Amino acid sequence: MRTGISVPEARAVVLEQARPLAPEVVAFESALGRVLAEDIRSSRTLPPADCSAMDGYAVRAADVARAGARLRIAYEVAAGAQAPRALAAGEAARIFTGAPLPPGADTVVRQEDTEARAGEVRVLVAVPRGESVREAGEDVKDGDLVLAAGARVGPAEIGMLAALGRTLVHAHRHPRVAVLSGGDELVEPHEAPRGGRIVSSNAYSISAQCRAAGALPNNLGIARDTPGDLERLLRAGLGADVLISSAGVSVGDHDHVRPTLEKLGVRLLFWGVEMKPGYPIAFGRAGDGSGAFVFGLPGNPVSAMVTFELFARPLLLALAGRRDLARPEIHALASEPFHKKPGREHYVRVCLARRGDDFVATPTGNQSSGVLRSMTLADGLLVFPAGASEIAAGARARVIVLDESIFARAIG
Ligand code: AMP
Ligand code: MG
Repeated sequence: MRTGISVPEARAVVLEQARPLAPEVVAFESALGRVLAEDIRSSRTLPPADCSAMDGYAVRAADVARAGARLRIAYEVAAGAQAPRALAAGEAARIFTGAPLPPGADTVVRQEDTEARAGEVRVLVAVPRGESVREAGEDVKDGDLVLAAGARVGPAEIGMLAALGRTLVHAHRHPRVAVLSGGDELVEPHEAPRGGRIVSSNAYSISAQCRAAGALPNNLGIARDTPGDLERLLRAGLGADVLISSAGVSVGDHDHVRPTLEKLGVRLLFWGVEMKPGYPIAFGRAGDGSGAFVFGLPGNPVSAMVTFELFARPLLLALAGRRDLARPEIHALASEPFHKKPGREHYVRVCLARRGDDFVATPTGNQSSGVLRSMTLADGLLVFPAGASEIAAGARARVIVLDESIFARAIG
């Protein structure tokens, strides 16, 4: 087991073994947010035939080369209908958006450019060949590779699967995550925290972080600070794809998480990452490297959330088949000088305000790892490099953006 490693080293250890979970067959409508595990090739042509892009008149281009042409209205074609016969020279067909072009026609004149009277239409302008026609296959051709394996399914992909008639698709499943908390001081949110007790907020912030990453959390509850109780809950959690516990992973007399995990056959790959908040974090894998991924996150509410963000979130995305594992990052201007001792990388919770084309990063206030308000206020995490001791006011610093709505913010 490695100890005292850097954030990038720890992240590499976590992601090294991450492979997308086995695909399953899902109804296309439920695939939103999932990653496709198969190439989607079309067995259709879309649109299936040349059709009208406008309400107007289908004509032969030669008949409307000059403004003022008069054509006989031969018949009407509505969307979903077919022309009764081919269009002859000197004829126009009344046509509506989406209706197939009659044989013989190659151009559509917009209704706005015509005057119709007594079975005849006058075309007021010259119209070029092919105007207002949607060509067969201009969207998708039979045999096209439309969506590649690895693509993430969003609303447009759902619409495309519908259009292609692909009602079932192979997609990677979302990871199932067992979430558990440990500590004699903890109570559930509906209980009154008497006598110095506190609510186990971590189980809820972590479960929500899982859900926000598309994963499926299952809150196993609170383990008491006894090896037996902890063993019972941890064992139950090892059936999930990922087990995330918080607290009890440090070096105190009541910190039983690490020895208990080892007893349960979890091979710990690292403990202790040179970062603040969140030094005491353990990571390992159950079984012979094929079982559940296990995180022992620190107990402090901010440390738990920040370490989840840096290590658990990318793993959950990778298991779901995602390749884009990173949050957006910006280089923001420091609002004021930042100071720290060199050694550990700090993740400073900051608010982000627009200034022209830039963002200004201002600390949220008290940066103690127990101050959960620093997370409710934070738009991002400013990365204060391990070796640095100062960031000057106005200097640029890397910020991991947690709240993408900052990009929609008005310039202040
Ligand atoms: P520990 O790692 O057990 O020493 O816990 C570190 C700190 O985190 C202590 O102040 C705990 O009370 C707090 N803590 C532990 N678990 C939770 C939790 N589930 N929710 C909120 N705070 C917690
Ligand atoms: Mg504890």
